[in-house]
Amino acid sequence: MNGTLYLVATPIGNLEDITLRAIKTLQQVDIIAAEDTRQTLKLLNHLQIKKPLISYHRHNEEIKTDQLIKELENGKNIAIVSDAGTPIISDPGEEIVKVALQNNIKVIPIPGPCALITALIASGISAKEFSFFGFLPLNKKNREEKIIQIKEDTKTSIIYEAPHKLIQTLQDLKTHIGQRKIVIAKELTKIHETYEKGTAEELIQKIKEPKGEYVIIIEGSQQTKQQNVIQNLNQLSLEEHYQYYEQQGIEKKEIIKQIAKDRKVNKNEIYKQFI
Ligand code: SAM
Repeated sequence: MNGTLYLVATPIGNLEDITLRAIKTLQQVDIIAAEDTRQTLKLLNHLQIKKPLISYHRHNEEIKTDQLIKELENGKNIAIVSDAGTPIISDPGEEIVKVALQNNIKVIPIPGPCALITALIASGISAKEFSFFGFLPLNKKNREEKIIQIKEDTKTSIIYEAPHKLIQTLQDLKTHIGQRKIVIAKELTKIHETYEKGTAEELIQKIKEPKGEYVIIIEGSQQTKQQNVIQNLNQLSLEEHYQYYEQQGIEKKEIIKQIAKDRKVNKNEIYKQFI
């Protein structure tokens, strides 16, 4: 009979945040697959648990998945843990879950700490709907695309950020999202847990030397998608604005009316430009 794959969340700082079920699972499994075995060993020593540890990280995920699936098929129970928080969330684990499910191996999540949820609930920013972006891409074009998505998103946006990139990210947010409220949650559940609030510009002034771990929570855009489209169209030349509607098969008279409405000017003014 196949063993079971457990996805065990571990503390993001405060060791008391480990759940009773996580402890019980780590005590009962045959193998623990850890992102960084040294880091997990510290937790296991604290919990007085001794188990065979296998390293399972981003760079060996594929090879180790095969090995761990074989162990599961031999009836071994395995727990996946990351360095901190919930496995798979900006951490390895997705690959083995996919393969395990394809092979009819049972996957059981053991929920617990997760930095994005911890930061969100204490931020004071709406948690009704939100988008999680993980770490922003380093590639300039991909990064800008993500920031534009954040700019246009009416839901709350959440980003993970490393300390040495925090100021650059705030600079990028300042350029694109201007005055929206941002909360920066630092060192959650640890001694130096803090929350800084303000616009991107205010936060750049406040945070001089970023140190520690950060989650950035950004208030959703107040503009609807349609308002965003109009804002972008108004930044085009009149000809480009016209072409946009023309490509949708709209007639000249209607296009002029629509451009005037978008730009909040009299339609005769637009009409004169096209004679
Ligand atoms: N899987 C983890 C989780 O469930 O949150 C996230 C892992 S990701 C590799 C690490 C990032 O999560 C950090 O760079 C930081 O952005 C965020 N993070 C993790 N622990 C944190 C903490 N105690 N305080 C603030 N941010 C934290």
